[in-house]
Amino acid sequence: MKDVRKTILYAAKIVPVRMIVYFLLTLPTLVLPVFMLKIQKDLVDLVSDSSEDKIKSAVILVFILLGLYLVNKVFDMFSKDFMEFGYFRYINLHMQREIHKKMELISLENYENVELFQLLERGQNSAMYVVFTASVLNLIVQAVVLVLMVSAYLCSIYPILFIFIIFVAFPVLIEKILVAKKKAVLLQTNSQFHREMQYYKKVLSNTDSEKELKVQGAGHYFYGLWKESREKQSGNEKKIEKDCFRISCGYHLIQGISHGIAFAIILVLLIYKKISIGEFSVLLSSFAFITANLSSIMSFMGEIAQAGELSKSYFDLLELEIEDGTENISKEDCEICFQHVSYTYPGREKRAVSDISFTLKKKESLAIVGVNGSGKSTLVKLMTGMLKPKEGICVWGKGKKRDTLKERSILEHISAAFQIFGKYKLSVKENLIISSPEKREEDKIEEALKWADLDLKKEMVLGREFGGEELSGGQWQRIALARCYYRDREIVFVDEPTSAIDPLEELNIYQKLLELTKDKTVVVVTHRLGVAKNVDKILVLEDGKLVETGTFDELQKMDGVFAKMWEEQAKWYRREEIEKG
Ligand code: ADP
Ligand code: MG
Repeated sequence: MKDVRKTILYAAKIVPVRMIVYFLLTLPTLVLPVFMLKIQKDLVDLVSDSSEDKIKSAVILVFILLGLYLVNKVFDMFSKDFMEFGYFRYINLHMQREIHKKMELISLENYENVELFQLLERGQNSAMYVVFTASVLNLIVQAVVLVLMVSAYLCSIYPILFIFIIFVAFPVLIEKILVAKKKAVLLQTNSQFHREMQYYKKVLSNTDSEKELKVQGAGHYFYGLWKESREKQSGNEKKIEKDCFRISCGYHLIQGISHGIAFAIILVLLIYKKISIGEFSVLLSSFAFITANLSSIMSFMGEIAQAGELSKSYFDLLELEIEDGTENISKEDCEICFQHVSYTYPGREKRAVSDISFTLKKKESLAIVGVNGSGKSTLVKLMTGMLKPKEGICVWGKGKKRDTLKERSILEHISAAFQIFGKYKLSVKENLIISSPEKREEDKIEEALKWADLDLKKEMVLGREFGGEELSGGQWQRIALARCYYRDREIVFVDEPTSAIDPLEELNIYQKLLELTKDKTVVVVTHRLGVAKNVDKILVLEDGKLVETGTFDELQKMDGVFAKMWEEQAKWYRREEIEKG
């Protein structure tokens, strides 16, 4: 209930005026039904006394009744429309904005944190439950007010009718409570199976993994798993359905008896002339009215408790404390110095990089080389400020420590293409523009595409999802590189987005990159050493440690790790060159 209260107060605070407008719109629908009952009573009383002049008044009453019915419907429609489009849509937009603001603040380092990632996902999904909770509450309030108004009217006719109301209401309340309890149990026991099924379905419908599944025949296996979870789920459902059926049978029996008693009460009242025929007819219509509204109230109560609980993650996300530095860096600060920096990923024991010291000066080009898993990408993440060192210090410019800096401010000065990059199902042009949405430079787009050797039309939509063209892996990688080029910041990081491009082509691209970025600071990561020939400085990583540093020639002379790796690969490059002529 605490969650529900919080949710409602939150929704009310976002747009109080709209909430008031909404309640004003519903007001007529709360009052009119009672008036209509009253007119119905007068009408039946008039008709039962069939003299000529009274018929005329009866016709007038029929028209008034019809009029009220129409007015009631119109307000009902307007208020529901307003609730959906004028009120809740607005709340929803506001919440999406809040989530977006929060996501912007969350440090990239946190994306390595599984728990936080799950919170992000749950928080986003649970925003809709905030809206849902608030809307259900409105409906509950309306139904409660209606039942109270009608009950008050009935009691004003004859106070003993209070007992009648209880006999009509009682079975509905019991049934709904019992069924809701059963359903809650079902929801809880089935949520595990539900999650499993969603995962299997995702695997089965993912186009990237689909091909692999087909080739390996693993599709059947996943389908089997899905079916197993589905069967367990429906087993539970069937059991609960049976229980609910039993409850429902009992309910109808009790309802029959208690409605019989209620009916007997009003019949006795009619026979002893305590109520008129008109009042008798009103009581008959109230049966249906009270039953319907009470049963809605009870179902809504079940839903609101659940929705309140589900909306909790949204608030957890909003309340998440985010620590970030306060200092900004400028263009002048775009050089980086590492002093004994180590990093261990959360939950890992081994350091991914260990005791690394070096300096990257302005306009210098740096290559980080080493075999897979040697820590190259981790080092790049530390350099881009996406990870904060666990030991040692990273200094930007003249003495600005990473811890004191705003993450956003560092990212402002960086352009990057990573191993894992986005394949956005947008046009070619948009795929580049998103890296720097504030500028729109058509020439620069052309230039970036040409640089990345992409012979594609700017307006061409990519990805089959929206009927666009599917690119090859290599072409997507070129798009990622072109995006990085278009962004054009002081420091450029390129971390092997090139695995699907053949080594000579990669060499070509990297060489062009280095030529074009002579006035910039460039960091390239590669396990193919040909690229390293043209940079100012090379860092050789082995098992997370910096084993050699120097220029290409210096490292060759050292005759160490780098020289050995080069010898291995040089044969290959020579062969390729000969084959390509
Ligand atoms: P490289 O880029 O040279 O292939 P990485 O920096 O990606 O190497 O990885 C270095 C080590 O850190 C590897 O042992 C890898 O398993 C580990 N590692 C990389 N990313 C993560 C992560 N997000 N969580 C835990 N361990 C990681
Ligand atoms: Mg890597």
